[in-house]
Amino acid sequence: MHKPFKKKKIIENILTNTLRIMELPFAESWKIKMVEPIRKSTRAEREAWIKEAHYNVFQLKADQVYIDLLTDSGTGSMSDRQWAGMMVGDESYAGAESFFNMKNMITAITGFKHILPTHQGRAAENVLFSCLVKEGDFVPGNSHFDTTKGHIESRKAFAIDCTIDEAKDTQLEVPFKGNVDPKKLEKVLTEHADKIPFVIVTITNNTAGGQPVSMQNLKEVREIANRFGKYVLFDAARFAENAYFIKLREKGYENKTIKEICKEMFTYADGMTMSAKKDAIVNMGGFMATNIEKWYEEAKIKGIIYEGYVTYGGMSGRDMNALAIGLDENTEFDNLDTRIKQVAYLAKKLDEYGIYYQRPAGGHAIFVDATKVLPFVKKEEFPAQTLTIELYLEAGIRGCEIGYLLADRDPITRENRFSGLDLLRLAIPRRVYTNNHMDVIAAALKNVYDRRETITRGVKIAWEAEIMRHFTVKLKRL
Ligand SMILES: *Cc1c(COP(=O)(O)O)cnc(C)c1O
Repeated sequence: MHKPFKKKKIIENILTNTLRIMELPFAESWKIKMVEPIRKSTRAEREAWIKEAHYNVFQLKADQVYIDLLTDSGTGSMSDRQWAGMMVGDESYAGAESFFNMKNMITAITGFKHILPTHQGRAAENVLFSCLVKEGDFVPGNSHFDTTKGHIESRKAFAIDCTIDEAKDTQLEVPFKGNVDPKKLEKVLTEHADKIPFVIVTITNNTAGGQPVSMQNLKEVREIANRFGKYVLFDAARFAENAYFIKLREKGYENKTIKEICKEMFTYADGMTMSAKKDAIVNMGGFMATNIEKWYEEAKIKGIIYEGYVTYGGMSGRDMNALAIGLDENTEFDNLDTRIKQVAYLAKKLDEYGIYYQRPAGGHAIFVDATKVLPFVKKEEFPAQTLTIELYLEAGIRGCEIGYLLADRDPITRENRFSGLDLLRLAIPRRVYTNNHMDVIAAALKNVYDRRETITRGVKIAWEAEIMRHFTVKLKRL
């Protein structure tokens, strides 16, 4: 027998306003059409594999990994629309329709008219910096990305970091921790005025933890650069994520669309380089864009030598179509909201378990503070690398050390550089994992943290390359 329907009671509740309407929980703004199986392994298997890899996760085979958080670069999941675009790619050598699809989309979003495609972000840096950066130059910016720095330093120029000091304190919560410090920037511009080809602003600031740069700050950098008659370049790998944070955190932007915010951001720059493997959600691709004709004309020549003809530059027609569609989709609020809420979800779990990370959570990754999670491992034994290994052994999760190993040795003293932060980066690929995976990651980290007193020894270097040693280093477990 059914219980009598308590209609009277419900009406009474509505009348007295006491009927509690449950707020609907947050969920992804997409559904899944295609899946790729991943495999769990046993601890014994992982012990053998990581040993064989010389305790360096770059040396693991991808199928030895259960959840792969090595990077969010080129590892995203394309949409049905992007795959449809792949099928109708125009593979003509010159003047392909796919190139114009990509060019028009970039112009619509950024306002830049001249577009030079490249095979990835660093290639865009290479073609543009070949024209602009000379020996003895100074390039101020906010925590230059390592390839950016590489392309500056390999030309015997200097990358000067002008990030705000707050970015160094992992526990300090400020809304725009990626900002340029205007005072530091002015100082560099004053001291080296005639040796500065441009100011570079990385949005979001990857190295500082995927932290955003405010519109106010972009405006200020533009004004300062104008005063000194300098150009401004954006390293725009994650510009859409930056726009999302502006919408959520900066007064006056709450009612603007992501595309409107992007358009305004780029009015403060003379050009951009972009790794499309990030916010355009393609597996490979990049470009440089500008309104300065002279830059384009000069870069074109370099592009042809290094990348290919100017209407493909290292990309297939199908890839350019996918890039155009990816940019369109990922400058829509819902797509970004799903992504950044997932990163925040993982952060909240870590809060529950008392695990320290760079706060507040950034756009694309969580940076775990390894020296706080493994306090008994000496810095000489590389705590963040030790944590990377422990997390892999615990659950087959592959993170990436952004710490003392990555920092390389001082070029003059050949001593290890222990002055920076020692972090384990968990980069979250776009549209790839569910929040159940986030739960696994958090629980695995908690297990490692809970047995921290038993983890007293780290690793030592058995073999290393002279620079960028983290990719190939061979380690011994102590
Ligand atoms: C990834 C990245 C680059 C380099 O791009 P690639 O596509 O890896 O060559 C440059 N700058 C930033 C901020 C990046 O995140």
